[in-house]
Amino acid sequence: MRIILLLFTLITGSVAHAQLACSTQGQNRQGGVITPFISTGTPAADAVVNGGSGAGTASRYMGDGKGVITIPVVFHILYNNAGQNLDESLIRQQLVVLNTAFRKKNADTANIPEAFKSVAADCEIEFKLAVADPLRRSTNGIVRKYTSIKNWLDDDKMKFAASGGSDAWDATRYLNIWVCNLALSSGYSSFPGDAAAKDGIVLRTGLVGSKVLVHETGHWLGLKHLWGDTYCGDDQVDDTPKQSTFTPGCPTGVRPSCGGGAPGDMYMNYMDFTSDACLLMFTQGQKARMWSNFVTSGKRAGIIDSKGLTPAANDEIPLPGEENPQKPEEPVTAALKLYPNPAINRLTVDVGADDRWLGKTISIYNTNGEQVLRSIINGKQQAIDITRLLPGLYFVAGKQENGEQIRVKFIKN
Ligand SMILES: [Zn+2]
Repeated sequence: MRIILLLFTLITGSVAHAQLACSTQGQNRQGGVITPFISTGTPAADAVVNGGSGAGTASRYMGDGKGVITIPVVFHILYNNAGQNLDESLIRQQLVVLNTAFRKKNADTANIPEAFKSVAADCEIEFKLAVADPLRRSTNGIVRKYTSIKNWLDDDKMKFAASGGSDAWDATRYLNIWVCNLALSSGYSSFPGDAAAKDGIVLRTGLVGSKVLVHETGHWLGLKHLWGDTYCGDDQVDDTPKQSTFTPGCPTGVRPSCGGGAPGDMYMNYMDFTSDACLLMFTQGQKARMWSNFVTSGKRAGIIDSKGLTPAANDEIPLPGEENPQKPEEPVTAALKLYPNPAINRLTVDVGADDRWLGKTISIYNTNGEQVLRSIINGKQQAIDITRLLPGLYFVAGKQENGEQIRVKFIKN
């Protein structure tokens, strides 16, 4: 990824103008294998839509019988300051950009060169914010989490609460998108078949709303860069011309490379690095490659069975004490630590990584939800006398002005 960024810097003279410096490289960095796409003239989608064991479940997501797959999305918004805690309206706008591209509803399709118009595809894939989380609790599909980390590298640490990030939701059922202050690249994605805990897309905070997510989602559905990440390489799609490397900026006219003549490079394809204003299309071949993930044995077949877009019923809401059942053994935030645990007479609440808790009141609740102690956090390590508590399970809970809550379990012996 550093090489890509360096190249980009050399060519454009600036990364500040770079709409796209995607660091996704090759395929299946985790060592998996993508089944080669074989063009049959019949979209692989038909296997899901018209027959096979997947037909029944797939139909749940078919709007008006058109065979559209709708993918439940969760955004993990990791913020170190209030400005990075993006407004929901911006996140929703980003989904409009994504859906517009994947449904070929962009107003500028007229700008697609004549030679490529016939292969430009409505990919018939849509994206919606999840309405139910993996434990069937209602959600708006946005996880917001303060992090003490100011700059992130392309090292997947944002995908784990233990390293200041946010844990993935079941990647077989959701598209996880982490938004954080990526220092070196615009974004990157896993490929189908990569490790589940790291499966998803990472996007730089300042680029939410741009077409970077369209490009990364192409990767998430198995697409490679047009140049196959090597000089005149193969992207394993038949209807994208061979291309020597990525295209910076916003060119016009025919730009042939790799010994080809007209119609030249397809630099208006979302899987190039062209500026947003000039990105216009996916191809039928790319569509078929993306859809091949959803056949019954496909690497993203689980998305078809996701209940992430089915509202949670009231009787599925967890009982008191189960509010954080996704990972009940882990604290909600890595920023607050309790020790010793179990504790006998003194419990230390350590907010060392997140000093926004200084001056805030925290409460201790028993398992009946009754408040048994309150304390104001006066230092990064606050000792609380718990001598008078009966032995048992308790929760330390607190709340920030922005609604962010913490809830951490401890045992009194
Ligand atoms: Zn890329």
